Amino acid sequence: MLICIDAGHYLGTPGKRCLKRIDPQETREWVLNARAADKVQEILAGYDCETMRVDDVTGQEEVTLYERVSAANRAGADLYLSIHHNAGINGGSGGGIVVYACPGADQQSKAVQQAIYQHTVAETRLRGNRANPMPEGNLYVLNASAMPAVLGEFGFMDSTTDTPQILTEAFADQLARGIVEALVEVYGLKEVDAVTYERWKDFMKRYQQEQGQLPPSDWAQEGLAQAKARGITDATRPQSEATRQEVALMINAAIK
Ligand SMILES: [Zn+2]
Repeated sequence: MLICIDAGHYLGTPGKRCLKRIDPQETREWVLNARAADKVQEILAGYDCETMRVDDVTGQEEVTLYERVSAANRAGADLYLSIHHNAGINGGSGGGIVVYACPGADQQSKAVQQAIYQHTVAETRLRGNRANPMPEGNLYVLNASAMPAVLGEFGFMDSTTDTPQILTEAFADQLARGIVEALVEVYGLKEVDAVTYERWKDFMKRYQQEQGQLPPSDWAQEGLAQAKARGITDATRPQSEATRQEVALMINAAIK
């Protein structure tokens, strides 16, 4: 399972930024898209799937839509997920999340579209006031990609209600969680490499063995040799930790 993630635009895309009146920094759309994309990749690293990015992750280079889709098609990705933030409210209130699939989209695209909308709204509570938050969209990346594809517009960059929220790190975390929950649900992704107690015990055992194989430190050589000569320790595994019972035996041997 290969998930292609497309953080829309790049730092230099004209116009794609938050409204100055609401966000004096005029945060670029790519910054918000990439922050969410990074977090999605980070969480998905713990699941049995691969991810790839088709935007320039430094934001410096413009990657055309053709190049993005071609890269996904060449790699044989199983899903094309494009992450955007919306505009069009011009400083008014309202907005919310809109997730697109192309006209006549396959069932899997529709399933991902619905799951991403539901889970991201549930996580972010950015419900909005769109008449149809899951419309069909005649968008290049959706039409030209060879695999199921969705494009999410996760809040408006020119809305007095959305913009302050979407600028926060907490929003990006919730958004990423919502997206991953949706993918886990649709594709049945499984967590991998979780450190269970059993695995931790194996690691601990290995660590102790590695420590036990280390030679004594220079500063300890003489004292260790003396303690061995006096029968306090057998001087094996000098860098291992001693248990309370071992310490008790050593103290007893020293007192005798
Ligand atoms: Zn965009």
